[in-house]
Amino acid sequence: MKILVPVKRVIDYNAKPRLKPDGSGVDLSNVKMSLNPFDEIAVEEAVRLKEKGVAAEVIVLSVGPAKAVEVLRTALAMGADRAIHVQSDEAVEPLAVAKILKAVAGEEQPGLIILGKQAIDDDCNQTGQMLAGLMGRPQGTFASQVVVDGDSVLVTREIDGGLETVKLALPAIVTTDLRLNEPRYASLPNIMKAKSKPLATRTPADLGVDVTPRLATVKVAEPPVRGAGIKVADADALAAKLKDMGVA
Ligand code: AMP
Repeated sequence: MKILVPVKRVIDYNAKPRLKPDGSGVDLSNVKMSLNPFDEIAVEEAVRLKEKGVAAEVIVLSVGPAKAVEVLRTALAMGADRAIHVQSDEAVEPLAVAKILKAVAGEEQPGLIILGKQAIDDDCNQTGQMLAGLMGRPQGTFASQVVVDGDSVLVTREIDGGLETVKLALPAIVTTDLRLNEPRYASLPNIMKAKSKPLATRTPADLGVDVTPRLATVKVAEPPVRGAGIKVADADALAAKLKDMGVA
């Protein structure tokens, strides 16, 4: 079985984003970019399934500018076998990414597609669900455990108030939650080895996908600055203060 893992290059979770002065978006110049953390978890899970002998090949795919190759190399250094870079200099919305993934899945026929539950740059949380819809495949989202069992997969999902386990017939789509695993660090020898693993370059057009945006960003603004807090002497003073403010 092949596993396809889509990985996105996003602003690093430790970086403090700045806005463009005209409020049209986040200024990405000179900002550290990394493999989306949920996608790192997806790569780790796929590599573990390969190490267990459940999967035969792990293919990673990224849609993005030339620099997206960096996150593909990271995923290859973690243990993926080969990479596909779908070159696009413009930001590609989740629906178009899902269409690209559907086209590649048509060629590669993966038994599992493991995505992150969301990309931490625009927090869409849409691509996996849209892909399952477009492909007519079962989906197990927000996975905290993935167990392949013959021709199905058991996915334990983190839901409000507990855990839910669903059984999906393969081929299926899974999206990862934070507690699924702890991704490994790529070792230096594996980083070196990754440089010679196969990496194919494609374009949305040769996969038959139109990536023209459907959404326009109206405005991006900083969150309001928080005012200073005050200290109260005891619980009674706190209750009185809340009453004064009309919140209790
Ligand atoms: P989103 O729906 O944008 O929050 O993204 C959910 C997941 O879809 C991510 O964690 C990735 O696995 C995948 N994904 C989104 N955008 C891309 C992209 N440009 N290239 C590859 N995978 C992507």
